[in-house]
Amino acid sequence: MIEMQDVSKKYPNGIIAVNGLDILINQGEFVYVVGPSGAGKTTFIKMVYREESPTSGKIIVNGVDISKLKNREVPYLRRNIGVVFQDFKLLPTLTVFENVAFAMEVTEHHPKEIKRRVMEVLALVGLKHKVRMLPSELSGGEQQRVSIARSIVNRPQVVIADEPTGNLDPETSWEIMNLLEEINAQGTTVIMATHNREVVNTIKHRVVAIENGIIVRDEQQGEYGYES
Ligand code: ADP
Ligand code: ADP
Repeated sequence: MIEMQDVSKKYPNGIIAVNGLDILINQGEFVYVVGPSGAGKTTFIKMVYREESPTSGKIIVNGVDISKLKNREVPYLRRNIGVVFQDFKLLPTLTVFENVAFAMEVTEHHPKEIKRRVMEVLALVGLKHKVRMLPSELSGGEQQRVSIARSIVNRPQVVIADEPTGNLDPETSWEIMNLLEEINAQGTTVIMATHNREVVNTIKHRVVAIENGIIVRDEQQGEYGYES
């Protein structure tokens, strides 16, 4: 469960990106975060995995107030949250296998267990045959599949995706959405910031619209609600 109570974020340059946000997201929900560019979607999302800290307010993730988390405690939170980015953020010198294995806590698993789990998630995203390739040898859709495999390898309770289809053509976008749907069907909470009107209006889920750092709409089975 994720809860924000009166959360605000003011950047050092004075911009208030998020302004008094209250939200409750239950385990297993699928939430689209929509809104114009500069609305505060990315800031909202970054605060959930503590890439940014709020200036004020409380953020509770699975019972822990993460605004009070010490930096050395952040890895424990991250283990329970997978993150998928628009530009994939794969490590270019590592193979597909290594990119996913790297996300596992190497000290805590037997190498055999790492290999088994990495192959399991790569099979899940349909890339078992490309484990030895480098990211540069893959299409955009394949790279996003690798990043999805990386995001779920530690069996997180939450997967956060910031415009995961933003760099992909429509057909590939639907494939990536199907994967996120499967992950959600397993009970994982999915929070996805998106500008993809077609996707939001077709695969219906909760829609939270943010404008000027404020939630202006929060609907179950909502619509995208913007023209483009
Ligand atoms: P969105 O994801 O909806 O486009 P962002 O959360 O990226 O919105 O940005 C919200 C506002 O905060 C914008 O005005 C943006 O310019 C500003 N902003 C975002 N990141 C930073 C940062 N690191 N430093 C200063 N201002 C930022
Ligand atoms: P830092 O604390 O310097 O951000 P990390 O190793 O925590 O270093 O993160 C490196 C990059 O990986 C960052 O861009 C971060 O957002 C991303 N990241 C962190 N945790 C995850 C995760 N569970 N899944 C995917 N990407 C992640």
